[in-house]
Amino acid sequence: MADTNRADRTGDGLLQLAVRRLWGSRWLLSGGVAGVVVASSVAGSALYIAPAIVVVLLAIAAFAPTSERSLPLPGAGPAEAMSLRDLSGEYLAAAVADPLIIFDRYGSVIHANAAAMAAFGNLAPGLSLPLKFRAPEMQVLIEAVLSGNAAVETAEYIEKLPVERAYRVSASPVGHGTELYVLVFKDQSETRRIDRMRADFIANASHELRTPLASIAGFIETLRGPARKDPAAQEQFLQIMQNQTGRMARLIDDLLSLSRLEMRPYLAPGSRVDIGQVVGSVIDSLGPLAKDNGIVVEKNFIEGPIEVAGDRDELFQVFENLMENACKYGQSGGRVVVSIDRGTSGPEPTVDVTIRDFGPGIAEEHIPRITERFYRVDVDASRSQKGTGLGLSIVKHILTRHSARLSIKSELGQGAAFTVHLPAK
Ligand code: ADP
Repeated sequence: MADTNRADRTGDGLLQLAVRRLWGSRWLLSGGVAGVVVASSVAGSALYIAPAIVVVLLAIAAFAPTSERSLPLPGAGPAEAMSLRDLSGEYLAAAVADPLIIFDRYGSVIHANAAAMAAFGNLAPGLSLPLKFRAPEMQVLIEAVLSGNAAVETAEYIEKLPVERAYRVSASPVGHGTELYVLVFKDQSETRRIDRMRADFIANASHELRTPLASIAGFIETLRGPARKDPAAQEQFLQIMQNQTGRMARLIDDLLSLSRLEMRPYLAPGSRVDIGQVVGSVIDSLGPLAKDNGIVVEKNFIEGPIEVAGDRDELFQVFENLMENACKYGQSGGRVVVSIDRGTSGPEPTVDVTIRDFGPGIAEEHIPRITERFYRVDVDASRSQKGTGLGLSIVKHILTRHSARLSIKSELGQGAAFTVHLPAK
């Protein structure tokens, strides 16, 4: 089709087009010519007019605009089909992004595309597939397709090296008397990883909710039984139950925040905020918490308003989480320094907001993992500080939406510094 279109734009193409159109209009033309001849023989006086009308009709038929579909050039269809039929199987295999292997009725490789070679190494022509893929499920699949058993068409196959990858393999005959067969490998590793993450997440979330729920159920039983006539115990248990319901509510709030963020992966364009003003209001709102924990907050902002692209409420949530952590976990340091600066270390200019505490710090091995959902360095410390284990993963999600980065620097015993790098443009 592409060739035909190109021909239409050249001089040769114009001639071809005219011929095709005349051919397409042959019935209309014959009718017209016959009509003219009959009319002139009846009238007798139109000897010169008749040929002129024939020429005009021919010209109109050749150059009048008409749909391409109504103008098949004899032989054009078969010519296109021929070019597809002539297309090399190797080209087709190369155009497939998934690993693909063509083999013969003896199970020997005829051709493997580049993706197959990259995934499985040597697949030279002549290599025996049952020897190459020794997993029983692959043997069954190859055997089934070679023996024409249509009941087995796919198999799950795990390639262990160099890194473990899970494939869904389908086998089918090429047919048309070729006695050739094809294996196509669909990589399922990413889908499986996401499924596993989702299952882990649901298990973690259920566990986090189940623990306070079990505690509340236990206290209800005690209040109805042994503590029925003990007002002091009742008061104490009711307080614990209230704390546990608070914990469940915080967890549900954090889960809802995460799910809302996942549903809106891109930031609405156009909104801008003064980051100094946002960080300032976070410090004000957490004043009581800082005071309760004996923390003095120091501000170290560059002069003037500093505008960045962002959503005010979400950025408030980011700095609130980081400040809360600094006050909770860095309590022993007695001091938190919040600074805003211009960053020039990365490829693009940034506005950097750092929240630094002087508490126990975080051991190096935990740093890459603390933004994972439900990851805590010390589970009891987090729970006693009303933590859900989701704060930093919410921070990470919001920053991703803002094309921003979080960097964490810490040394045990020296405190921790969390820096948010927001794009300055
Ligand atoms: P949590 O709700 O438990 O606070 P986060 O996701 O906010 O959850 O933090 C994950 C973990 O990272 C915390 O449980 C804590 O162990 C650790 N952490 C976070 N901030 C600090 C900090 N400033 N100093 C020491 N540890 C911290």
